[in-house]
Amino acid sequence: MPPLDPQVRPQREDYWGHVNPIGSRSCYDEGKRCAETLFFDYWRQHGLPIKVARIFNTYGPRMHPNDGRVVSNFIVQALKGEPITVYGSGAQTRSFCYVSDMIDGLVKLMASRDDFTGPVNLGNPEEIAILELAKRVISLTGSKSEIVFEPLPDDDPVQRQPDIKLATGTLSWKPAVQLEEGLRTTIEYFRRTIVE
Ligand code: UDP
Repeated sequence: MPPLDPQVRPQREDYWGHVNPIGSRSCYDEGKRCAETLFFDYWRQHGLPIKVARIFNTYGPRMHPNDGRVVSNFIVQALKGEPITVYGSGAQTRSFCYVSDMIDGLVKLMASRDDFTGPVNLGNPEEIAILELAKRVISLTGSKSEIVFEPLPDDDPVQRQPDIKLATGTLSWKPAVQLEEGLRTTIEYFRRTIVE
């Protein structure tokens, strides 16, 4: 396993992470870690009520078509008949949560008792390889796009999957929208909004 990959799977809240502090992606990774640190300092020093959610890959209608994330990229490419750009071999996995499930989790977290600070994972544990996601999008759109392989960005995690036992136990929350259903709704959204 390369040195930057999560060392436990699925990832629980008490896992402290294993990220490169000086890589091209580090401002993103470390920015989130630093934000958690500051939140907990405010909570300890000033008694500020805080809630820390760890959001895993989320998708759905109203994503920006050029936002660069994988679900929007693949759907836009498929609908335009452009090549689907899989980075690396596509064997890396992600776990995709539909936006309405994520919002529901966030609302439940905000309404939780004051002494529940998190961090709490919010995400859908259903894991899929990126190459498989590309094939699903092609099949659901009926696209004639071909899959092309491009270089894997630096520090791209090989696997990401939330353990959501804390959220299910404490917030009585779990995702309800299956990937296929969420992809269909997202595809319909992009069909309506993409200007050829
Ligand atoms: N990815 C891809 N093609 C794209 C965009 C992303 O293969 O056009 C891959 C990317 O390398 C990563 C995964 O899809 O392995 C998820 O990427 P995203 O940027 O959506 O989320 P994150 O890497 O932050 O989990």
